[in-house]
Amino acid sequence: MTMPTQTPTHCPYCALQCGMNLVPNTAGRLTVQPRREFPTNKGGLCQKGWTATDLLGHPDRLTTPLVRGTKGGDLRPATWDEALDRVTAGIQAAQAVYGRDSVGIFGGGGLTNEKAYWLGKFARVALRTPHIDYNGRFCMASEGAASVKAFGVDRGLPFPLEDIPGAEAILLVGGNPAETMPPIMQYFERQRENGGALIVADPRRTATAAQATLHLQLTPGTDSALANGLLHVAAADGLLDLDFIAARTSGWDSVRRVINSFWPDRVERITGVPTAQIIKAAHLLGEAGTAMALTARGAGQQSKGVNNTLAIINLMLALGKVGKPHCGYGCITGQGNGQGGREHGQKADQLPGYRKIDNPAHRAYVAGVWGVPEESLPGPGRSAYELLDSLGQDGGVRALLVMASNVAVSAPRALHVQQRLRSLDFLCVSDIFLSETARMADVVLPIAQWAEEDGTMTNLEGRVIRRRQATPRPEDVWTDAEIVTALAARLGAGQFFPTSEPSVIFDELRRASAGGVADYAGITYARIDSEQGVFWPCPSETHAGTPRLFQEKFAHEGGRAKFHAVHHLPAAEEPDDEFPLYLTTGRVMAQYQSGTQTRRVADLNKLAPEAFVEMHPSLAARLGIADAGLVRLTTRRGEMCVPAKLSPHIRWDTLFVPFHWAGMACANNLTNPALDPVSKMPEFKVCAVRVEKIAPD
Ligand code: SF4
Repeated sequence: MTMPTQTPTHCPYCALQCGMNLVPNTAGRLTVQPRREFPTNKGGLCQKGWTATDLLGHPDRLTTPLVRGTKGGDLRPATWDEALDRVTAGIQAAQAVYGRDSVGIFGGGGLTNEKAYWLGKFARVALRTPHIDYNGRFCMASEGAASVKAFGVDRGLPFPLEDIPGAEAILLVGGNPAETMPPIMQYFERQRENGGALIVADPRRTATAAQATLHLQLTPGTDSALANGLLHVAAADGLLDLDFIAARTSGWDSVRRVINSFWPDRVERITGVPTAQIIKAAHLLGEAGTAMALTARGAGQQSKGVNNTLAIINLMLALGKVGKPHCGYGCITGQGNGQGGREHGQKADQLPGYRKIDNPAHRAYVAGVWGVPEESLPGPGRSAYELLDSLGQDGGVRALLVMASNVAVSAPRALHVQQRLRSLDFLCVSDIFLSETARMADVVLPIAQWAEEDGTMTNLEGRVIRRRQATPRPEDVWTDAEIVTALAARLGAGQFFPTSEPSVIFDELRRASAGGVADYAGITYARIDSEQGVFWPCPSETHAGTPRLFQEKFAHEGGRAKFHAVHHLPAAEEPDDEFPLYLTTGRVMAQYQSGTQTRRVADLNKLAPEAFVEMHPSLAARLGIADAGLVRLTTRRGEMCVPAKLSPHIRWDTLFVPFHWAGMACANNLTNPALDPVSKMPEFKVCAVRVEKIAPD
C-alpha cells in the first residue's frame, strides 16, 4: 500500500480535534507536524497531540485476537475465525437462555461517526437489544439534556470558537482548558487582549482560573446556587434584557420567583463565594455588550448536572446574551467524538440524527432507511452506569461487547463495576491495547488506530471533520466496522451490513440523519476536505452548514427558548463526621481519560507519572501529612493510596484526584454513582471523603 508523503488529519484525543499533518520521517515512522491552516487550533497542539504517533508502533499493541480457554484461564492468541465464532456463540448462548435483551454493547466517545452509527444499528438490527450506551454518557450528557430542554437541540458549542474573542465577558464554570485543551486558550487570550473579562468558577485555582479576571472558588456541588445568585443580582440591579425575555423566551416568571430567595449573602453561605465577587461577576456579565457562559465537566458531572446547566442557561437567557453574535451558552465537550457518538445512535435513547427511539415517527423513518419493520426496533435501553450495574444480574445483561472503552477504570464506583464485569457469562473487548477491561475479557479483538483508517469526527463546535488513513494497519488487525460487519453476518443479519467501508457507511448515515435535528444529509467527504469541515445541521449539498444556531429562532416549536426554574439541592453525598471533606476529580495535561493510551507514551509519563491527591497545606498540616507523603483516601465506595501534593490553590475542605490511573491509584474506586435523574450522569465531581496519612513501615 503506497501512503501519501503528508496526510492532513486530526489528533486522536480530545474534542478540540486539533488539525495536524502526519509526515513519515526518513525511517518511515510517522511524525506530527502542525497544520496551521486548520481553523480551530491554527497549528497549536498539546503534548498529547505531539506524541500521538508514539501509539502506532507501540510494543504493547495488540496485533492478534486473544481468547480465554476456560473461565479463569489465560488469554491466548487465536485466529479471527475462532475469536469471532466465540463472540457469536457468547451472544447466541445468552440470548437463547435469557432473551434478546441479555446482550449489551458499551461503546466509546472516541469512535468515528461511521463506527458509532454502525454499532448503534448493529445493536438494534442484528442483536435487537435495547441495551447500548457509551462512555460519552459520562462526558456531557447533562449539558446535552439541559440544552435540549432550554433550546430544543444539543450541540456542544452552538457557535464557532472564533466567536469567543469577541465576547466582552465570559463565565467559565467547572472547566480547566489551560490544562485539558491548551490550544483553545488562544481564543481566551485574544478575548482578554480585546479587553474582555474572564470569570472562572472552580473549587481549585487551576491554570485557567489563574488567568481569569475573577475566580469564584465555589464549594463543590453548589453551581446552581451560584448561577441563581448571579441571576438574582442581575434582576435586582436592572441588568436583565426584558425585551429579549419577552420576544424570544418562555417561562421567565417561574424562574423569577425562585431566584428571589438567592440573595448574595445566602449564596455566599451556600457556595463560599464572597458576596462582593458574586455582585462583581453579575455586573461584568450583565453590563457587557456581548457575553457567553461555558461549562465543562465540573458543572455537568453531578447528580444535578442538568439543573446546574439550566441555571446557567437561565442566567444567559435573562441577560439576553443568547442567539446573538459573540454570545451564548456552550459546553466544552471532552471526548474526541463525544458529540458525534451520541448523535448517531450509540446512546440508549437515540437513533441517528438525534432522533428519539421512543418517537413513533422517528422510529419509522430510521427503520425505513435500514429496511426493517419499525416494530422490530427495540425501545430505549439502560443508561451507561445502569447498564454496567445490571451485568450478570437477574434481568440484566449477560453478554457484553465493549468497544473503545475502559469501563473498569473510567466508570464510577469502579470496584463494583469490576465485580459486575466478572459476573458476566461472556465479555468481548475490542481495543488497541490490553486495557484493564480487556484483561477481564473472554475474547479480545485487536483494532485499527486513528491513523490507520478513514472516518469522520464531530468536534466540540459541531464541525464534522475527516480523519484520514496515513499508514497501513498491522496485518492481523481489523477495524471496528469490519468486526461489526463480520458479526452481523454470523448472526444472520449480513444483508443489513453489506460493507465496512467508511465512506459507504457515512453515506448511509447521511440518509438516516436526513430531516433529523443533527442533519448530516448535505455533508460529504469532499465538502469536508474543501471547507475545513462542515457544521451540522446541513440538510442538502447546497446548504452552507450552520456554524451559528439560534440566530433567528430556537429549535423548540414556536421558536422560543425555555426557562426552567432550578431549586438548588445539596450534592447526593455531603461531608459528615466519618467522611469530612469533599472529593472532586479531573484531568491533568499529559494524560487522557483512563490512560490506556497516554500511560503508554514515555514522554507523557515523564510529565505525569502517577496519580496524586491535591490538598491545601493547612489541611495537610492539621493531619500531619507532608508533601509527597503517602495517604489513603476512603469513601463509602472504596479506597485509594496516592502521594499528597500540597497546593494553596485548592479549597481547604476539598481534595482533587486525577482519574487516569488504575488499581489502588484509581480515582473511580471512590466516586459516587448517584445519577442525575434526567441525563443519568453519575456524580463524578463531588462526594464525601476521608484522608489519612499512611504511616511508614
Ligand atoms: Fe489533541 Fe486535544 Fe491536545 Fe488538541 S488539545 S492536541 S485535540 S489532546
